[in-house]
Amino acid sequence: MPGFTTSIVHSDRRGGIEHGSLQKPVHATVAYGYEDVQDLADVFQGRSSAYSYGRQVNPTVTALETKINAMERGVATVCFGTGMAAIGTLLFALLRKGDHFVSSSFLFGNTNSLFQTFGLHGVDVTFVDATSAAVVAQAIRPDTRLVFVETIANPRTQIADLEGIGELCRAKGLVYVVDNTMTSPYLFQPVGVGASLIVNSLTKYIGGHGTTLGGAVTETGLFDWSTFDNIQDTYKKGDSAKWAITQVRKKGLRDFGPSLGPEAAHHLGVGAETLALRQERQCANARALVDFLNGHDKVARVYFPGLPDHPEHERAMALFRHPGALFSFELADGMDTFAFLNRLDVAIKSSNLGDNRTLAIPVAQTIYYEMGAERRASMGIADSLIRISTGIEDIEDLLADFEQALAEE
Ligand SMILES: *Cc1c(COP(=O)(O)O)cnc(C)c1O
Repeated sequence: MPGFTTSIVHSDRRGGIEHGSLQKPVHATVAYGYEDVQDLADVFQGRSSAYSYGRQVNPTVTALETKINAMERGVATVCFGTGMAAIGTLLFALLRKGDHFVSSSFLFGNTNSLFQTFGLHGVDVTFVDATSAAVVAQAIRPDTRLVFVETIANPRTQIADLEGIGELCRAKGLVYVVDNTMTSPYLFQPVGVGASLIVNSLTKYIGGHGTTLGGAVTETGLFDWSTFDNIQDTYKKGDSAKWAITQVRKKGLRDFGPSLGPEAAHHLGVGAETLALRQERQCANARALVDFLNGHDKVARVYFPGLPDHPEHERAMALFRHPGALFSFELADGMDTFAFLNRLDVAIKSSNLGDNRTLAIPVAQTIYYEMGAERRASMGIADSLIRISTGIEDIEDLLADFEQALAEE
């Protein structure tokens, strides 16, 4: 088995590309033509795996799906136009009115908002502190179908009890969905803790350069879908470990239409080639900045799984290659959060994460503004909380930038 990066950079050419091209070309097409109409009929009747229509399949997108699937050691992967499309379509395709699912309450803000909308459509969610599998277990009901968690939550960096919840889901026969965006398959592979389905926002670390939106759902093959009521008879064909991804591709991608375009897939595939290199550097930069900020007299506290006083420090060190490239911190009393951020020059004030550039954002006034002060307080989001996603800049420049921004006042 080739290593992580070798397998990504040699993935396209193994498929046999015209002219010996090393990169899968951008197939800018919507439809596919056939000489014999029988071949066209075979595609629609599932007897052929040739291409049907661009909303469901495109060769450039397939090339990216192959890479993501290898990175996650899955059995099949479907790509989407965004990470949110991947999450929304997955639940749309697999859950029905009257179903219940349990979700971590430490969630990406838009996922939290999406799950509340599912509630309006008759799919009920219970939010729990997923850093403890015992707490998740208490929320399970007879109509519970699925458990959804993230690996490292942003901005406070709580880490779900990934192993414990995996065991719980196996024991209870529940679908286990892990959003691996914050770690990426380079730092962590959820198949190892028993995940049934893995979500990645390709927009963040995998694409990496802040140029392109994309998402993916990977089936690990660990869940036996013959035990799951919501698979439609049409998709109960062949290996029952792949029924869900087929239903997600048909009922979700085909019928709902949140497709990834070929140009976007190309950009994300090029980005993916350097995932390991970039993340090594981003994680080292996070570590160095945290070491500088932690204990600084103008900083009240730092949240980073790599710190020994982080509640899930041991878990992070045991499960992840590195404790991530994202951290948050609160300024000391009397410091003006906005004035500090405005003094930063290398770190950019921006809402994204996983970019090659270091990005800083005041959390309460932006991404967590809509949820209101009460909910923020319950989630431990202080008004002075600043989230940092480290890029690949030279660490001397980042350290100097934070030093000068803290020096004033
Ligand atoms: C950004 C993000 C998403 C959504 O991804 P988009 O590609 O922006 O739609 C989902 N989950 C997590 C953990 C994220 O950080």
